[in-house]
Amino acid sequence: MGRVVAIDGPSGAGKSTISRLLAKKLGFQFLDTGALYRAVALHLRRAGAGPDSTDSGISGKLKNISIDFKDGRVFLNEEDVSEAIRTTEAGHYASVFSARKAVRDFLFQIQKDAALHHDIVAEGRDMTTVVFPEAWVKIFLDASEEGRAWRRYLQLKEKGIETTMEEALRDVKERDLRDSKRDIAPLKRVDDAIYIDTTNLNLDEVIEIIFSHLKNRLAC
Ligand code: C5P
Repeated sequence: MGRVVAIDGPSGAGKSTISRLLAKKLGFQFLDTGALYRAVALHLRRAGAGPDSTDSGISGKLKNISIDFKDGRVFLNEEDVSEAIRTTEAGHYASVFSARKAVRDFLFQIQKDAALHHDIVAEGRDMTTVVFPEAWVKIFLDASEEGRAWRRYLQLKEKGIETTMEEALRDVKERDLRDSKRDIAPLKRVDDAIYIDTTNLNLDEVIEIIFSHLKNRLAC
């Protein structure tokens, strides 16, 4: 089992960007678990599943599905879905289906296996609580609601996806509520996680704070 830096936090707190850069600096692999949930949701929607589908119906649709990361791109059954999974709709359904046991059970082992032979930085909603509770380092990234909506808005714009600030704020609020109130693996801050509010910090400042915490551990 490799070392795991587990990072959780609400949508738009900067998890993906920070985790990706941190992984590069540490020489660890990066596991974007949100992309796994988004790809599963895309697959389920295409297979005709909806919020009312039964768990066994969902499990049945998850047989023979493959999700791979190659050169920073995401492949669903060998189709490059890197853009398709980033829309607001894909995020919405990722949040809806991620509350289902069938989906979480399906992705649990895939995420665990990612750390079998590699050191990884894993980011998501339940990395510190459920998937890697024994992680080498735990981090909870947070930011104000407006700050997170603004980041989400800029990210979508940058990708050429049409959106408004109102839509981004609605999306962030709605997903946070669902992600933190669900029965299975809700988003939670654990006591032994390093807490960082990124609202007024740039990328370099967040990385610096993380490294200041990692210094002693890296020396071991
Ligand atoms: O991080 P990202 O916004 O890409 O995640 C999309 C959705 O997937 C989240 O809103 C959340 O519902 C779900 N998710 C999750 N557990 C994770 C990662 C993502 O439930 N570990």
